[in-house]
Amino acid sequence: MSSVIDLRSDTVTKPVPGMRRAMADAEVGDDVLDGDPTVQRLEHRVAEMLGTERALFFPTGTMANQAAVWALSRPGTEILAHDDSHLVNWEMAGAAALAGVQVRLVRGAPRITRDTLAAALRSPSQDAPRCTLLALENTHAGAGGMVTPADELAALAAVGRSMKLAVFLDGARLWNAHVATGTPLTDFTRCADATMVSFSKGLGAPVGSALAGSAAVMEAAWEARKRFGGGMRQSGILAAAAIYGLDHHYDGLAEDHRNAKRFASIVAEAPAARVVPPDTNIVMTDLPSHLDGSTVAQRAQEQGVRFSVWSSSRIRAVMHLDASAADVERAAIILRDIIQQS
Ligand SMILES: *Cc1c(COP(=O)(O)O)cnc(C)c1O
Repeated sequence: MSSVIDLRSDTVTKPVPGMRRAMADAEVGDDVLDGDPTVQRLEHRVAEMLGTERALFFPTGTMANQAAVWALSRPGTEILAHDDSHLVNWEMAGAAALAGVQVRLVRGAPRITRDTLAAALRSPSQDAPRCTLLALENTHAGAGGMVTPADELAALAAVGRSMKLAVFLDGARLWNAHVATGTPLTDFTRCADATMVSFSKGLGAPVGSALAGSAAVMEAAWEARKRFGGGMRQSGILAAAAIYGLDHHYDGLAEDHRNAKRFASIVAEAPAARVVPPDTNIVMTDLPSHLDGSTVAQRAQEQGVRFSVWSSSRIRAVMHLDASAADVERAAIILRDIIQQS
């Protein structure tokens, strides 16, 4: 019996032996007291990659996102975010609880466009909430890892700027957007006051994200990180995993994207399946109306494959470095056949 193929998320990867060795060997200090050399090395590298003055290492992307909202908004104001964004759906209403802002949703699938953003803007009124921040996400996870091209991202940010909003980019999978399009990372980050990137998705680190931006914004983010309990001591052990991921797993993202395309083409052989063509490493499959997401996931699990149930009618499969091309092909055939045979 072969082991389970787990395509629920790209967060399920286990650190490879080389990564664990790099963690064990990491040179460390006390990052709260006077700095950890490996954390500093990672932060410098990320700032350089993203073209910002500084970057800060965070235990999670969620904390980095929340620190960004805290740093770039003001309590008692409103921020704009897509109704299917991570910030809105998967962070425990942190923006309300921690930054004291309300979220005004930009509605309309699959991601923010100029039209949906325009539709979400309030007409000026003395009595309406003031808006302080526009939050963007690239790739957009809820839309199946969809890429917003850099020029479009810049156009969205320009709308925000014209209203004096700060701009935040949740780039948990910005690496994927870069690898899929060849667009330089800096072309994506240029329009944002702060960008979050993750090491624990496609790059295979156990935990870790970074927030990058100007020195002034990073100073505020440092304050938030400490307040939220994210000041870490010998965190070089974790930063070493991130550095290893950047060194050894970046190129593998292209393979994840190839696997996603292959997966999508196999599942699409079932005439009743509606597969969203993947831009990157996530494949969303919409089921025919007589099939329910949890039933499909259950049947797949009985055959050794795990998918996530994105909604009652949508199955999500995420490619990652612990799923080989053969694994992905097998998983796709199983999903195709479940849809075809029911
Ligand atoms: C995973 C993810 C996060 C949060 O990262 P964690 O490290 O799991 O907290 C934020 N935004 C997006 C788009 C993500 O996919």
